[in-house]
Amino acid sequence: MSHLPHDPAPDAADAIGGVHVKYLVHCPRQLWLYARGYRPEGRSELVALGEFVDETTFTRRRDIDLGEARIDWVTTGAVVHETKSSRSPAPAHAAQVRHYCLLLERRGVAVRGGIVHYPLIRRTTDVPWDAAARAEAEATEAAALAVIAADAAPPRLARSACRGCSYRDYCWGD
Ligand code: SF4
Repeated sequence: MSHLPHDPAPDAADAIGGVHVKYLVHCPRQLWLYARGYRPEGRSELVALGEFVDETTFTRRRDIDLGEARIDWVTTGAVVHETKSSRSPAPAHAAQVRHYCLLLERRGVAVRGGIVHYPLIRRTTDVPWDAAARAEAEATEAAALAVIAADAAPPRLARSACRGCSYRDYCWGD
């Protein structure tokens, strides 16, 4: 088992970024490890592909840096855009966008909603932003903070759910 470099200090909700939300939804254990600075050796092909799609798909855009959270871009009317290299929409994608909407709203932006772009399948999905979405985003943020603050790592997922996870070497010794 690898040494964990440091303990997390999630003293503010601003400490939660898009990666934290993605990992929480995928696997709380992954979030716990990530928050303690654990980074797998090398990078998975999926991550590399994601960055490639991200860099090549849109040429006119404006990234928004909110500390831990980095939003792909926001268009007029405050619509949050997120680009994914995945070929299928997943709950984590919408959860990330809702988190960004929450962060922007806290900064006084009148957020209208979000759109997740899937350039590899030429699809988009809308992410509504309303009272229910806000409550969901707040619950997700609270859950992420609770996972990070836990003394012990959450249990592993069923091994079949770990396929493609870059933390498998830590969890399973692969
Ligand atoms: S290998 Fe499995 S249990 Fe470990 S972090 Fe990844 S998904 Fe979670």
